[in-house]
Amino acid sequence: MNIQLEELTKRYGETEAVDSVSLTIHEGETFGLIGPSGCGKSTMLRMIAGFETPDHGDVIFDDSSVVDIPPQVRDVGLVFQSIALFNNMSVIENVAFGPRMRGVETEQRRGDAQDILELLDISELADRDPQNLSGGQKQRVALGRALAIEPRVLLLDEPMTGLDATLKRRLQTEMVALFDELDMTAIHVTHDQEEAMVMCDRIAVLNDGQIEQVGTPTELYESPANEFVADFLGTSNILDATARNGILDFGFAEVPFECAECGDVAVIVRPEHISPGSGSLRAKITNQFYLGEKVRTFGLLPDGGKIIFDVDRFVAQPGDEISLSMDTDRIRVIG
Ligand code: ADP
Repeated sequence: MNIQLEELTKRYGETEAVDSVSLTIHEGETFGLIGPSGCGKSTMLRMIAGFETPDHGDVIFDDSSVVDIPPQVRDVGLVFQSIALFNNMSVIENVAFGPRMRGVETEQRRGDAQDILELLDISELADRDPQNLSGGQKQRVALGRALAIEPRVLLLDEPMTGLDATLKRRLQTEMVALFDELDMTAIHVTHDQEEAMVMCDRIAVLNDGQIEQVGTPTELYESPANEFVADFLGTSNILDATARNGILDFGFAEVPFECAECGDVAVIVRPEHISPGSGSLRAKITNQFYLGEKVRTFGLLPDGGKIIFDVDRFVAQPGDEISLSMDTDRIRVIG
């Protein structure tokens, strides 16, 4: 199912929680909503689910507006942090709950629920009490319960909260495979940018109720539209420079680069695109952190600005001054 948001707006008093957001989410896509706390992610999701009514704008499922349709009839599957499992029911009864409410007869709904438990690789938990499950198992049951109603869209709000890092990564890759297999349209709210990049086909970066950029994880990381996106997704150095006649002049160093236009620019450079050795940039190393696959290094530039770069092993020590070069094929210059 396609989902279209048209000028979607929600105010709480003076706060524009969601400010005229227009967006199309395509059939079968896993779409991420990311942004800092309070940027309007959950409010958007609640309007799509039907728990909030927009002050202005429309939510369209395929070709029909659903703003006047109550949540229970919208056919959305919900995996929200705040929605708990029913503790007075077994796992399989939890999964079969939605179909039961819809009047699906007992044998059919048990069979369907069994299939879902198998799909999620938890059939051995069918008769267990949800209270005695681990965090990851509970998460799978919650997902099973949402899938059981055969939703037109699955809405996930911080579904991995509270799980340890290793389990999170495993569930993320499993869910990607599952959504592909089911060809499910899913909207995924998370504050975890890595989770969004692993799980989502496309992502909208929100800030203050508005969209800063929509793109694939690669597009957002490699070609951020502005400093906010560059800073929010991954780590970036954002350096002021003047572009002129085939060079970027940082004040303390000049780097050859053909800019479309001359003038003051912001240069966005990822830490992995700066390397020590020859180069016109000079930095004094302040700190280094060994992270296994790389050594994240912090330095001070001649103008007192900070620079972050990655090296594959300790090449210098705090206090040392070194030369750096940037991979100008990978930098992003914003006028
Ligand atoms: P996020 O999910 O990105 O953290 P929210 O959608 O929860 O952001 O909130 C967006 C803004 O709307 C915040 O400023 C928040 O304080 C405000 N807000 C959200 N829900 C309510 C509410 N029920 N009443 C008043 N203000 C709200």
